[in-house]
Amino acid sequence: MIIKTAGGSGFCMGVRRAMDLALAAAQERGHIYSFGPLIHNPQEISRLADKIVPVADLDQISERPAVVIIRSHGVPPQFSEDARQRGLTVIDGTCPFVKKAQEKAAELVAAGYRLYILGDASHPEVIGLQGYAGGKAIIITSPKEAAAAPQEEKIALIAQTTQKVETFSQIAEILRHKAEDFISCNTICNHTRFNQETTAQLAHCVDAMIVIGGYNSANTKKLAQISKEANIDVYHVESVADLDLDIVRAYGKVGITAGASTPEHIIEEVVKRMTELEKMENVVDKGNECTCGCGCEEKQENCEPEALDQAAETQAAEYTAPEDAANAENAAEEDQAAMDDFTKEYGDMKEIRRGARLKGVVVQVKDDELLVDIGGKSEGVLSASELSADDAKNIHDRFHVGDEIDVLVLRKENQEGYPVLSKRRVDQDIAWDRLAQLKEEKAVVTGTVTDVVKGGVLVDVGLRGFVPASLLSLGYVEDLSTYVGRQLEMKIIECDKHSNKLVLSAKAVLRKAAAAQKEKTWAEIAEGQTRKGIVRRLTNFGAFVDIGGVDGLLHVSEMAWYRVNHPSDLLKEGDEIEVYILSIDPENEKISLGLKQLCPNPWSLAAEKYPEDSIIDAKVMRTTNFGAFLEVEPGVEGLVHISQMANYRVGKAEDIVKPGDIVKVKVLSVDPEAKRMSLSIKAALPEDAPTEPPVEAAAETDAAAEAAAGEAETTEE
Ligand code: SF4
Repeated sequence: MIIKTAGGSGFCMGVRRAMDLALAAAQERGHIYSFGPLIHNPQEISRLADKIVPVADLDQISERPAVVIIRSHGVPPQFSEDARQRGLTVIDGTCPFVKKAQEKAAELVAAGYRLYILGDASHPEVIGLQGYAGGKAIIITSPKEAAAAPQEEKIALIAQTTQKVETFSQIAEILRHKAEDFISCNTICNHTRFNQETTAQLAHCVDAMIVIGGYNSANTKKLAQISKEANIDVYHVESVADLDLDIVRAYGKVGITAGASTPEHIIEEVVKRMTELEKMENVVDKGNECTCGCGCEEKQENCEPEALDQAAETQAAEYTAPEDAANAENAAEEDQAAMDDFTKEYGDMKEIRRGARLKGVVVQVKDDELLVDIGGKSEGVLSASELSADDAKNIHDRFHVGDEIDVLVLRKENQEGYPVLSKRRVDQDIAWDRLAQLKEEKAVVTGTVTDVVKGGVLVDVGLRGFVPASLLSLGYVEDLSTYVGRQLEMKIIECDKHSNKLVLSAKAVLRKAAAAQKEKTWAEIAEGQTRKGIVRRLTNFGAFVDIGGVDGLLHVSEMAWYRVNHPSDLLKEGDEIEVYILSIDPENEKISLGLKQLCPNPWSLAAEKYPEDSIIDAKVMRTTNFGAFLEVEPGVEGLVHISQMANYRVGKAEDIVKPGDIVKVKVLSVDPEAKRMSLSIKAALPEDAPTEPPVEAAAETDAAAEAAAGEAETTEE
């Protein structure tokens, strides 16, 4: 006897998740309650009876505090509120696939559709769906019932997650013609589809099928029904105890499949007993490697890939309910459409192979890993190291049960038999594709500088890219570290996924922006304008000021009304200032700027501020042979002739004053036009001021004083 097990047999993702949640809570609290049996398997329920206590009604829970778990079938929305009002803690074990169907039901009814649910009206999942539909849904079980539905404006169809795909397709086709606006949402879960599909294929390869699972389990009953459609003998058992081995041993090839609530150990027990039965001939294989899921080791006609495709098509046609023979010719097409929908939504389950990129649904979020349903028998494991650094750091914020994510299969199985997945690599793939596209479009990308490396900086643009120092800015960058943390706009100049090379240029963006700005500035500027500018560079003769992508020269002589020795006395690079445009030479691209023009000329007010005969304080700036120049205020200087320095003859001005002294002077005359002012120290002296020079100085003065007087006559300031 050859024994084959269908791929996908046993606990599905939803049941395993609910079981894990229940056992974890029971371990913490001793025991918890489940609203209805947690799974449709009496053996397992009684084995766990001291940990998970099933109740049919919340009134049966008298203990407080107490925890109740919602099983994978889900419940109507009011249940949780009711339980909480009774002081119970609720754990939601609703399968993510069922949750999606519940949300869909509520959404469609709210949108005004007459909602049809394909399913068993007494099944808890359908009762829950009806609750989400506000009790307004019509439950149907066959195309015949659908045919009797009245014509309506808007009709929508969903299904209990364990229904047969082909029945759903047939009903959809019928209801489609009953309304102007029709929506069908295939909510049949991928585990169910996979299990049904592999069971159907296996049933066509064997002489008899053993279907293991609770007699009250809807999906197990469906598997038995599908098996029977292959016109073979089918035995539905709950455990090995129900199996009549004397009958089974008569078959040459026996297939085994199991419902979503059937624990692994019950399946293993059946296989073990049968293996023992016919030790010599038996070949037992779990079937993971077999394309059709039948697990053949020896090649059979039906297991050739082409033959399997044909077999699948034949089966699709055979699924058609006999009473709807008229629809038979459409059945294969409908199945294909349903499978296409399924593939679009969840990825192709047969594609669980190394390197495959799939869509998956998050079923559990742990601190250091995610469990992801990718449509196979087991959930895939996605460790934090296979998430991006950001995702791993915020794993509980970024991921929630039911989220759909793209993953890559790194290994088909780890030591525990779970597929090993990566999201980081899919994200990277997507990022490479996106960046290649942006390069093609010559688009600008934004990224943050993360590190300084030899010859440039690294930027994060979804992937790590390199910006050479020479392409970082329009000018030379002395200290690259000042760029760390800055956001840059860049163009991609090299993007090669295979050599892992991504090179960007910020300069390309800056150059373009600068050219546009320059053009705009030249169009705007005019002589006599005042503009804001930034001091870019200082020289001995002035400063170059950027007035908007264009540099103008601010000559040192135009900086102030007074004498400026060096531009750095007034300005430094980076200063933001206002400048006056003195002249423009577009041909040679030269602009002359002024700064002092923006302040009043101090000579224009000098006559008014310093009238003749007024006594003022002034600062000695420098001395000459003929006297001394004094600053009355910045930009206004006057001369004290040597003859006006004292009541006696002065030989050298330095005998009376030195630079930096503040002295009292009398204003003798002011000529704003000529920018001249005559001052006198002598006229401001007190009456008792000496009329003779100090004795030691008197002898030196005569010759010098005469020469100075003559020179003053001819000197212009
Ligand atoms: S059979 Fe599908 S829908 Fe039902 S619990 Fe399992 S995974 Fe969820």
